Amino acid sequence: MVQSRAGMEKEIVVMLPINQEERPSRLQGDCERCFGLCCVSLPFAKSVDFAMDKDAGQPCANLRPDFRCGIHTELRDRGFRGCTVYDCFGAGQYMSQVTYGGRDWRQASTENAAEMFQAFPVMHQLFELLAYLQEVLALPEAGPVHGAARSLLEETERLTRLAPEGLLRLDIATHRGAVGTLLLQASELSRAEAGRRFDAEAREVARGASSGSAGGRDGRSSSGAGDRSAAGAGSESAGSSMSGRGNSSDGRRQRCR
Ligand code: SF4
Repeated sequence: MVQSRAGMEKEIVVMLPINQEERPSRLQGDCERCFGLCCVSLPFAKSVDFAMDKDAGQPCANLRPDFRCGIHTELRDRGFRGCTVYDCFGAGQYMSQVTYGGRDWRQASTENAAEMFQAFPVMHQLFELLAYLQEVLALPEAGPVHGAARSLLEETERLTRLAPEGLLRLDIATHRGAVGTLLLQASELSRAEAGRRFDAEAREVARGASSGSAGGRDGRSSSGAGDRSAAGAGSESAGSSMSGRGNSSDGRRQRCR
């Protein structure tokens, strides 16, 4: 299952920043309000990221009765690096507190618990899409697709409110595909704008050089160089963010407890 999730991640290959600190708090994981759903619902295979095999729906051996991780402070040393990079985008606490109204899987019937564990990966994807759509709306360069992004955001919000059985029936791949197409458009717009800025500044520098002005040493040119660096840094950071996201798709987030 981790592999299939990684496969879906590849469908959305975008150059957008994904900055956890700048996300709304509801799109950031809050383990204190979650019933350890990622520690039960998701499977993992013994590897450099995980020290053992675990099936989907099986509670991790390190999960304590109070839903906290028993090896939180030594995850990496104990071979659970994957747990330190996983990001639920806030799906865990939402499902625990809203979808299931604060009723945890230990109190639930076996059937309801199994349903919860199957629905969690769907909710996780919806919250991940919400985070990316918010990123698009924060990008001025992506203005031409902001209307479509808002529509998809509203639709994704609506889907998060589905009851568990609705989540399980949801064609998440199709919805994810629609969001992925928009993300690609936003990414192209963002890069095109960065490219236009760079070209304009390069022309300005070239004009200064050919006129024999003090170009490059006056304040304006220095500022231009700074802007250009920022554009470049933005690109790099977006690229590295995507790398990071790829990693996180195979792993788990640093748990906050
Ligand atoms: S954070 Fe990782 S090691 Fe700790 S309980 Fe959850 S799955 Fe297990």
